[in-house]
Amino acid sequence: MADTNGTNGFHSRGRLAGKNAIITGAAGGIGLETTILFLREGASVMMCDISEPALAKAVTKAKELAPGMVGKIATAKCDVSKESDVQAVVEQVDEWGGVDVMFNNAGIMHGDDADAIDTPEKIWDLTQAINVKGVWFGSKHAILSLRKHSKKNGSIINTASVVALVGSATPQLAYTASKGAVLALTRELAIVHAKEGFRFNALCPAPLNTPLLQDWLGDDKAKRHRREIHFPSGRFGEAIELAQAVVFLASDESSFVNGTDFVVDGGMSRAYVTAQ
Ligand code: NAD
Repeated sequence: MADTNGTNGFHSRGRLAGKNAIITGAAGGIGLETTILFLREGASVMMCDISEPALAKAVTKAKELAPGMVGKIATAKCDVSKESDVQAVVEQVDEWGGVDVMFNNAGIMHGDDADAIDTPEKIWDLTQAINVKGVWFGSKHAILSLRKHSKKNGSIINTASVVALVGSATPQLAYTASKGAVLALTRELAIVHAKEGFRFNALCPAPLNTPLLQDWLGDDKAKRHRREIHFPSGRFGEAIELAQAVVFLASDESSFVNGTDFVVDGGMSRAYVTAQ
């Protein structure tokens, strides 16, 4: 049984000691759990999010759950779809000695996102601006920071989704297209920058127990059932189960892992029929 709820059984091994990390969408489900694990593993973390009130709560929680941390922690309001915001955050981390790890994780799944007929163009554009352009800006400024500080290795992790790998009959066309783009751009960046020592991997989570999806599903039992029958384990994933994977991809333990679609989905995308 996975330890999905935080501190139980936790022993820091300093797997990210001395690394400076930027996490976008840091006030949300995956972003906050990753912040906590990064701090426990010795990293300094710049938490970025579009929501200042959510960031304020998240940083308090992160400090509580990572007692005795050795790295720095800071927050910055940042809309990842605006290059000037992303650049400003990276410049702050340049003052810490430059970026080592960039987790481009912020993303939206809009309530009005639908199928080819019903998706409004403005929802399409908004989704691509945050989910795709945000990842590009984060990758671009991480590369510039790595070069500026003459770093010989860096890890950029971009959050995609299993919907970029398997078709879904519960459509969110703009979201699906945006996550496919994340996989494709991550793969190309991985190959272009491999000789510089900069690794790029895409994270592909299954549907999770985080506000992004759970707020959208609400109490709608039919909508939930429509998804749960396809999970081999019969449950949604937990944000911390993704955060554990991000620690691995951020650390030097994954030094030869590059250009992957790193799937953390309880086997969902490998399933044909699941047990009753
Ligand atoms: P979440 O909604 O809990 O967190 C997302 C965070 O991103 C929020 O704090 C939000 O304020 C922030 N954000 C939104 N727009 C932003 C912007 N323009 N600039 C900066 N920050 C912004 O969601 P989560 O489940 O933690 O999702 C994180 C990532 O994982 C997203 O990219 C999402 O698409 C992806 N993902 C989630 C699931 C799931 O089921 N939850 C599944 C697959 C992939």
